[in-house]
Formats: sequence, C-alpha cells, structure tokens
Amino acid sequence: MASSTRQRADAARWHTASQVLAVVRRRPGITRAAMARELHLASGFATEITARMRQLRLLTEAPAPISGRGRPTTVLQPHHDGPVVLAVDLRQEDWRHAVATVDGMLHEAQRHTHRRRQPTAVLREIRHAVDRARARYGERLRAVSLAVAATLHDQHLVQASTLGWGPVDLSSITGDAIVPLLVGNDATLAGVAEARTGAATTAGTALHLIVEVGIGGTLTIDGQPVLGAHGAAGEYGHLPFGDRRLRCPCGARGCWDLDVDGRALARHLGEPAPADPRSYARHVLHRTANDPRARQAVSTVAQSLAAGIAGLANIHDPDLITLGGLGPAIRNTASAAFDAAYTDGLMTFHRAQSPPVVDAAHGDQGPLHGAALLGLDHCTSETALAEWAAHL
Ligand SMILES: [Zn+2]
Repeated sequence: MASSTRQRADAARWHTASQVLAVVRRRPGITRAAMARELHLASGFATEITARMRQLRLLTEAPAPISGRGRPTTVLQPHHDGPVVLAVDLRQEDWRHAVATVDGMLHEAQRHTHRRRQPTAVLREIRHAVDRARARYGERLRAVSLAVAATLHDQHLVQASTLGWGPVDLSSITGDAIVPLLVGNDATLAGVAEARTGAATTAGTALHLIVEVGIGGTLTIDGQPVLGAHGAAGEYGHLPFGDRRLRCPCGARGCWDLDVDGRALARHLGEPAPADPRSYARHVLHRTANDPRARQAVSTVAQSLAAGIAGLANIHDPDLITLGGLGPAIRNTASAAFDAAYTDGLMTFHRAQSPPVVDAAHGDQGPLHGAALLGLDHCTSETALAEWAAHL
C-alpha cells in the first residue's frame, strides 16, 4: 500500500514534464514562452521545469530569435542524449524505419523492399534494425513502435491480407523484451499523425480515411484514436456500403472495400482482377487524361467513396475528414461526382455546414509519423519519465 502511494506521488511529479513534452511534440520548435502560455504556467515555473528537464536530458534550450517587445525566450529542443523511439512501418511491398526524438521528428529514415514475404523472414529483418538501434542508442532507445497494414486484436496480429499473412506472433521483433514493443494499425496511426501534426490539428473530432487496397481509417478525439475494446475498431472497409452480390475476402458480403479501389476500377472496366490493386488504380487514374471509359470508372468509384464518407459523417459527426492514400487522386479526377454524392448522402441538417473533406498532410509517411507518436506517448508518460530519471 505504502509503496503504491509513493509510486503515485512520484508519477505526479512527472505530470508537468510529460505535458511539456506533449506540447513540444505537437508543436516542434515551440519557444519556452509559448509553451508556458499553452499550459498556463507562470514564467518562473516554466523556467524551473525546463531547467530540470535539461538536467534530465529530456530537452535543451537554444536562444529564440528576438521578436517584438517580448522578453527573450528560448526554443525547446530534444536533448542530444535524450530518449528516442524506433518507429517502423510494415507495408505490403516494403518496410521503413526511422528514429524519433521527443519532438516527434524523424531521423535516419530508411526504406527496404521485402526480399521475402514470409513472416519469419520479414520479422528477422526488422529485428536486425532493432538490434542496430539498440547498439547505437543503448538505453536511450525506450520503445519500438510498429505500424502494420493488418487487423490487430489486443496487440496481436490477427490477419494481414495484403501481405498474405494469417495470425503472426510479433514478439520476436524485440525478443528479450528489454525494450517495449507497441503495435498499431497503419491507418489508425496515420489518423493519429493527421490529428496531432497534420491536416486535422484544429479538429476535436476528426475522421481519417485512407484508400489503398480497400479503405481503412480511424476516428480521433483530441488526437486519441477510438480503438475499441481490443484495438480492432476502424475496419471501415467492411461496412456493407458495397455491392451485395460480392463476397469480400474477409468473409462478409457487400463490403465497401470492394467498391473503392483498384478491384472496383477493374470490374467497371471489364478488365481482369488486378494482382496489385494499388498500382493498377494508379495506372487507371493516369489513363483518365485521354480515356473516357477510365474517367467513367473513376467517377463511379468516387461516388461510392463519397457516399460512404457521407454515411460516416452522419454516424460520427466529425469536425473534419482527412483523406489519404489514393483518395485525393480519385476525388480530384471526379470532383463533381464526388461532391454531389457526398452532399446527397448527408442528412439534411449536416448539409448547411457539412464536415470539410481535405487531403491528408503526411502522405504515405503518415503511419511512420503515427508510430513515432504512439511510441513517444508511451516513453514520455509520467511512469516512463520516472524510469528514465532513475536510469540516469
Ligand atoms: Zn470485408
């Protein structure tokens, strides 16, 4: 009992430090004065807490350029010996990794094409990257955070249909568990990145949707994804917004997935089902410049996409909707059809002020940024900061 009370008291000491780092992550390059305003800290206390965080190798301060009549202040920057996270994004055709500092910035980004697709081979490659990061950063490496194009349930990978994987145990990535492994769905993490540092930073409730092979996404509230009881929420592609005659690989009938991607374009064009629906869709989008049939196919897909988005706007009542992956290209190619289907699908009361649909800002770096943020959330929690200080 006594020890848990002490632990709570210790954690409380780290509350403000954790909040300061959250602000730095949301607004990299922020000054101490602006951080103090944002957190409603008296300037003396802000000076004191940043000095303490400097000693703890969490931040450094550099003189800020003088602007206006305000008193001189400093820019808050990650400490050169501070904690880092290894962010990894595992995708159908490749995987990428980068080291993230406490301001959420990515460093040493690398991309590798899969030499072999089998889970053991792919996970071994990722494990080598973790080992290299650990050799280089030692105890500064506080978490490995993985974004993966897969359905997750309680941090377990249940199915990754684009990789052709069934259930896979991911624990070999960190092996001995000295460094915690965090796992998130790639579309969910891309949504987190949009809400925190991308196109939806002003939105309290934001919906992010990404079209690749099928469609995925997440609802975020104040930058936190709505994950469901087991982290499996957000399978938007498996809503029955599609053609009821079609059976989805997930097992259900009429999934929206089948109406919004390269597979749908191929059906509308009477062409064979593509082996790689994403590059096929890019190819069809390219053809629209001088192929009216391709234009018509994209227009049909844009309508399915927009009608479904309208349905989701009716459900979630978001401030803003961000669209990533192939979504912006589909929309831009058939903007009139998209806009008409969107408005048509909204309940009347939404139409006066319909939630804007905007292009995602992070592009295909969204999942990697989101993985970095997830990892940094973890290693700048009050408990994790107490552990960091203890290790120093
Ligand atoms: Zn489905």
